[in-house]
Amino acid sequence: MRIETDFLVVGTGVAGLTFALKAAESGRVLVITKSKPEESNSWYAQGGIAGVFAAGDSFEEHVQDTLRAGAGLCNERVVRRVVMEGPERIRELMAYGVHFDRQPNGELMLGREGGHSQHRILHSKDATGRAISSVLLEQVQKHPNITLTDQLFAVDLLTQHHLGLYVNRGNPDITCYGVYALNYAERQVYTILARCTVLASGGCGCVYATTTNPSVATGDGIAMVLRAKGRIANMEFIQFHPTAFYGSDKQPAFLITEALRGKGALLLDPLKLDRFMPRYDSRAELAPRDIVARAIDQELKLSGLPHVWLDSSHLPADEIKEEFPTIYEYCLAKGYDITKEPIPVLPAAHYLCGGIEVDEWGRTSINRLYAIGECSSTGLHGANRLASNSLLEALVYGHAAAEHARKVASSFDFEYRVPDWNARDTDNTDEWVLISHNLREVQSVMSDYVGIVRSDLRLDRAARRIDLIYRETESFYQRTRISPSLCELRNLIACAYLIIKCAKIRKESRGLHTTLDYPDLLPVAYPTRV
Ligand SMILES: Cc1cc2nc3c(=O)[nH]c(=O)nc-3n(C[C@H](O)[C@H](O)[C@H](O)COP(=O)(O)OP(=O)(O)OC[C@H]3O[C@@H](n4cnc5c(N)ncnc54)[C@H](O)[C@@H]3O)c2cc1C
Repeated sequence: MRIETDFLVVGTGVAGLTFALKAAESGRVLVITKSKPEESNSWYAQGGIAGVFAAGDSFEEHVQDTLRAGAGLCNERVVRRVVMEGPERIRELMAYGVHFDRQPNGELMLGREGGHSQHRILHSKDATGRAISSVLLEQVQKHPNITLTDQLFAVDLLTQHHLGLYVNRGNPDITCYGVYALNYAERQVYTILARCTVLASGGCGCVYATTTNPSVATGDGIAMVLRAKGRIANMEFIQFHPTAFYGSDKQPAFLITEALRGKGALLLDPLKLDRFMPRYDSRAELAPRDIVARAIDQELKLSGLPHVWLDSSHLPADEIKEEFPTIYEYCLAKGYDITKEPIPVLPAAHYLCGGIEVDEWGRTSINRLYAIGECSSTGLHGANRLASNSLLEALVYGHAAAEHARKVASSFDFEYRVPDWNARDTDNTDEWVLISHNLREVQSVMSDYVGIVRSDLRLDRAARRIDLIYRETESFYQRTRISPSLCELRNLIACAYLIIKCAKIRKESRGLHTTLDYPDLLPVAYPTRV
């Protein structure tokens, strides 16, 4: 099957949906997603979205908080642009019908999270992502110029490589003509040709054994760009959320939003139930996530226990139930009443700060290809993301990429010479155990050796093991009919390779990258690029 569209969007998170709605003013948009439309990191976002709305707040303070969290690696121009444009994009959400919590007097109820010097987090109870995504999805589904197709898995980008030409990483003129996408139900690979292609395919939390991300977060867009020889940056900066519920028996690990710490919840050590954060940072529980996650990691190593405690039992019970209903119910079902007792928590892989390198319009190093949202590296987060800045980035870059693509799309023709997918010499196999086994192995290698604290020795061990799994999986891939789980495994291996490679290039400890061998910060910040 061959499909043509003006704009092809891969992903139904906040970034992809935002782009689709804006681009649809100028042409036909096809949005594809590999799972159900609502299965995305966006849907699970809890805490909220950062924006300068409070009377006592200022753009400058939000900028400075973002730069401070980013540990010298943010692009200040990008930070200023996102912070200053943010409120306008958030007002657009409200105009679409997104409801943010308000005080009885009608003013926005603004929360405060780690690293923020002001109350500036707009939220919708503790299910902000769902509130935003459901409204955007509704708008997309009723738009006459947008087609949304789920269960369609983007496998690879179409470039000159598919015309039989040699493409390498140094080539400045690689061009994207669309994607090959697997329709599971039909077991058929579609050739989708587009004037402009947009990757809004999210992060790669599933490369670790414990993650807050849903199972769709397998870094597919990033791996596709790697294979297409595009540029990728700063992959070593993986944010571990300090507080996922310990003992959850399902992936994703259930997140306990830091808005709860913003409200006054305290972290207690596992043995004496004493507060430990004041010993690590003057901002205590409200220090940026990397500091809190490292402190918990250290406490766990000291105690030898698998979790610390998070205590909100001293806070007003009615407010906790009102503001954090999802968390309250979840913990209650697990046997903990958060208004009466502490809950066990541990860090979990949560957010990717690096990704596909893009410019101010979300343009990648590959012509006609944009990347927006968590799969991209814009320069906003630097070495560490400030809480609630990622939904903001998805909105601002979804808008910017659409503005640009709308202007240029009509000047591009479809590339009809791209051949259809070739499944010759591949077959169904009965060796599916290889996929699940190799996936578990990738995840445990990454968690054991490339987690919160790294070293040269650990990275070398990880690199050797990932290389072995890579070779085994590639040989399996060459002879096997593709499936989503096989594609995801390949993509996670590619992301593991990128994270390790960037971590090895960085000879310092900065932001989310801490290594025992280079504990200091180098005087000049530099990006890592592949
Ligand atoms: C539990 C949790 C809580 C969070 N809380 C907050 C918060 O409070 N504030 C905040 O700012 N950020 C938060 N984040 C981060 C934020 O949600 C994400 O960074 C952001 O939503 C990313 O949006 P996105 O559109 O880039 O990607 P996503 O929302 O992850 O969407 C990616 C989409 O791409 C699709 N896709 C992926 N690969 C393919 C493929 N090969 N083919 C087809 N489709 C594909 C997926 O199915 C999905 O639809 C949280 C994240 C998690 C996991």
